[in-house]
Amino acid sequence: MVDVARAHFPLWQQGRRIAARWWPSVCVLCSGRGANPLLDLCAECHADLPKNDSACARCAEPLARGISVAPLLCGLCLQRVPRFDAALCALRYAYPVDRMIRQLKYGNAVIHGRVLGEIMAAYVGRMHCGPWPDCVVPMPLAQKRFEQRGYNQAIELAAVIERRLPVRVRTDLVVRSRETLEQAELDRKQRSRNVRGAFSLSGELRGRHVAIIDDVVTTGSTVNELARVLRRAGARRVDVWAVARAGRMK
Ligand SMILES: [Zn+2]
Ligand SMILES: [Zn+2]
Repeated sequence: MVDVARAHFPLWQQGRRIAARWWPSVCVLCSGRGANPLLDLCAECHADLPKNDSACARCAEPLARGISVAPLLCGLCLQRVPRFDAALCALRYAYPVDRMIRQLKYGNAVIHGRVLGEIMAAYVGRMHCGPWPDCVVPMPLAQKRFEQRGYNQAIELAAVIERRLPVRVRTDLVVRSRETLEQAELDRKQRSRNVRGAFSLSGELRGRHVAIIDDVVTTGSTVNELARVLRRAGARRVDVWAVARAGRMK
């Protein structure tokens, strides 16, 4: 498999640093002047993004704002603890973040990976507690989908994370052996069946702390399954870092 991450990390980052000296960044949403040379978003559009500022402490499910009892847990996490230890999702999956993520996944808008990656890195840098993970694993795509798309959006995000935070990206640990159906359309039982056995792991993770990187967590079933596989390989702690979190359908 082509290791896209290693192949293109240094190139765009170097190019971007050089370009930023001459050309200011441009907001991807309104074409206004970017807030800083590394963020293609103006200060107003940045401020208007739907922040996930009141969320379940475990799975980052958006909760009603204004609840002040800590730590907050959603109803599902109270009933059934996820296989990951903590999730950090910077934004809510609502306009315009939903559109940016769809364009990143299906519209070749790789620039949104850089913008959302910067936002995610800043959020994780602020919110992460304790030691940094030994490695971060971008959510893999099945080989066929990767070839159709030409890139993996989670690796695009991970590229920025690796640049901004003291973590190392590993794209060689997990393989997605098959693509799964869109999780949002399935009920809870179907969702766990849908993702069961979708990942295979090469390597030993005994005692390791791993963070999974994904674009959007919708139901949590996919990251939960990957967390299960990482734990089975010995991972001591598994975190989930995503750009956005959608509210659960049911
Ligand atoms: Zn703007
Ligand atoms: Zn929860």
